[in-house]
Amino acid sequence: MEDAAQRLAEIEAGIAAAAARAGRKAEEVTLIAVSKTHDAEAIRPLIAAGQRDFGENRVQEAAAKWLALRAENPDIALHLIGQLQSNKAEEAVALFDAIHSVDRASLVQALAKACVKTGRQPQLFVQVNVGDEEQKGGCAVANLSALLGEARQAGLAIDGLMAIPPADVEPAPYFALLDELAERHGLPMRSMGMSGDYETAVMLGATHVRVGTALFGARS
Ligand SMILES: *Cc1c(COP(=O)(O)O)cnc(C)c1O
Repeated sequence: MEDAAQRLAEIEAGIAAAAARAGRKAEEVTLIAVSKTHDAEAIRPLIAAGQRDFGENRVQEAAAKWLALRAENPDIALHLIGQLQSNKAEEAVALFDAIHSVDRASLVQALAKACVKTGRQPQLFVQVNVGDEEQKGGCAVANLSALLGEARQAGLAIDGLMAIPPADVEPAPYFALLDELAERHGLPMRSMGMSGDYETAVMLGATHVRVGTALFGARS
């Protein structure tokens, strides 16, 4: 079995090759190592190999797990990639350097308040339900303009868009849609692409890819 450092190097090489094919620079892409469900012991080898951006999907799990890891490595950036309840907005703003799951007006209001109260300003991504899937989180494509307007009114700076395309279909059209929506609204960042499709996402403009399984192995 190859080790964490080797898997990390392979994914970084995949990102660089995909970026080169699209005429982009690898430095334009941030690799987020999605460490949800994995413990500190599994994470430490990646930190040792130089990885600094990590993704978690639960506020509580992240708070417990990263307290010590971050004390040891203050330059780590934590990304919240899972759904966020409004009553946890303040805790999330205090803990995370980026939140990828802004998806409704009530959460925009809660985050705006939390940013004022904590004096923190994490990077914020609006999650878009690009496949218009009933069961999936994210703002409907048709409601994106209105939600971005609410954020502006609330004084909340939005940096980009995030999407999880429908499973088991070709993701490229959904990545292209997210890129186009970000372009149209003048947003520089696009959080898209996971273990199975991060190279496609990079070719289509991803600035952040969220990779779990390909780095850590399967989640139990
Ligand atoms: C779990 C998760 C990922 C990582 O998925 P892998 O297929 O394991 O790379 C990426 N994005 C989100 C939103 C996730 O919840």
